[in-house]
Amino acid sequence: TWGRVQDEILKSVGKNNFATWIEPLRIIDLSEGIAAFEAPTKFMRDWVSRNFADPILRELRKAGAAVERIEIRVAEIRPAPVSAPVSKPSAAKARKPVRLADETDLPGAPLDPRFTFDSFVVGKPNELAHAAARRVAEGGPVTFNPLFLYGGVGLGKTHLMHAIAHELNTRRPDLRVLYLSAEQFMYRFIQALRERQIMDFKEMFRSVDVLMVDDVQFIAGKDSTQEEFFHTFNALVDQGKQIVISADRAPGEIKDLEERIRSRLQCGLIVDLHPTDYELRLGILQTKTEAYRAQYPALQIADGVLEFLAHRITTNVRVLEGALTRLFAFASLVGREITLDLAQECLVDILRASDRKVTIEEIQRKVAEHYNVRLSDLVGPKRVRTIARPRQIAMYLAKNLTTRSLPEIGRRFGGRDHTTIMHGIRKIEELKSSDVQLAEDLNLLRRLLES
Ligand code: ADP
Ligand code: MG
Repeated sequence: TWGRVQDEILKSVGKNNFATWIEPLRIIDLSEGIAAFEAPTKFMRDWVSRNFADPILRELRKAGAAVERIEIRVAEIRPAPVSAPVSKPSAAKARKPVRLADETDLPGAPLDPRFTFDSFVVGKPNELAHAAARRVAEGGPVTFNPLFLYGGVGLGKTHLMHAIAHELNTRRPDLRVLYLSAEQFMYRFIQALRERQIMDFKEMFRSVDVLMVDDVQFIAGKDSTQEEFFHTFNALVDQGKQIVISADRAPGEIKDLEERIRSRLQCGLIVDLHPTDYELRLGILQTKTEAYRAQYPALQIADGVLEFLAHRITTNVRVLEGALTRLFAFASLVGREITLDLAQECLVDILRASDRKVTIEEIQRKVAEHYNVRLSDLVGPKRVRTIARPRQIAMYLAKNLTTRSLPEIGRRFGGRDHTTIMHGIRKIEELKSSDVQLAEDLNLLRRLLES
């Protein structure tokens, strides 16, 4: 299977290359002598084809696949997955987590060797979650049960859980630590039902010392899985075993979750990971840059690039990391210093996607605030210059920071015609090259809106 081939490729290309280039590939077809993959971007496709086609081909063949060539396509843009792709690196050597005896067809839950406490950057938004995770990782007597971590995508929930497992594996090798996603819990449960091994299943889950279930919102509405989860949960809590749960929202906000499960979840310590702030993002970028410096010693990185990325990519740490990875690879490929221009060129798609979340309402509010005009005037009919100019600026920003069409923007500006909007945007474009104050205002507003 591809999973096993991946392990072999990992050995031949190394951890960093694997994580950056191979892991993001999705195998989509393996027939008629062609192995087809999907890569997330055109750049990655080209890079992988150039540098990794051979090892991939070699390992596929070794695994017995009759492959003549590989083909890599660019994946169509889809919304980001809700949960982190679980990476394979430590599958082979991991003594723990414990697994079901027969798991050949099951997706495993290996620990990502990169997700440690050492590599986790602590800032205001995540300090509580981090402290709680640290406490659990000490492996001392259970003080809160469960630890419930929640927060949006890419804020570090999975990273913290893996870090707990790594730490416990070192400090308390006597403990049986089981980490898996709620989805995997369900698969294992269903498989156990199908193969009439439900007793083994129960016994296995009840024999662990620390159970960590990631993305528990997944089992909401899945009745029999919830039921089984509830029993497992109770049995472990009764035995004084530690449970760590993560979800993308607070227990009270998970729909279709049974009331009794919800109230049990609420008995422990509930900590949320807040959206990252600028300082945390910059800290993460700096930490990762240090690591890249070792890998690409010749590369120079210009002042302001990390700050620029921390300002512009605000959604998700995974995206932030991906951007940096690509930047280093690209710069080393073309042998250039990492400058703002290079970043903009090589990260167009990421930067554009991260702009998408700015709304017209936010733009209007910020612009009104900045120029000290009323929001109702900004979208209203008044034509005096002190209002008309900010209005044009807001139109200009709406066009540049969102993906809305001119007619849509017109509707949000009190039902104006798209030609009026176009005229406003042109006016600002014209002025900003000569009017320094205006150019500065635009920069500032843009920054405020994007951070
Ligand atoms: P979640 O499970 O909350 O969706 P992950 O734990 O998978 O998010 O994190 C996404 C990526 O961002 C991972 O590569 C992780 O290492 C990284 N990451 C998130 N938060 C931090 C942090 N505070 N320090 C370092 N890396 C982080
Ligand atoms: Mg996750």
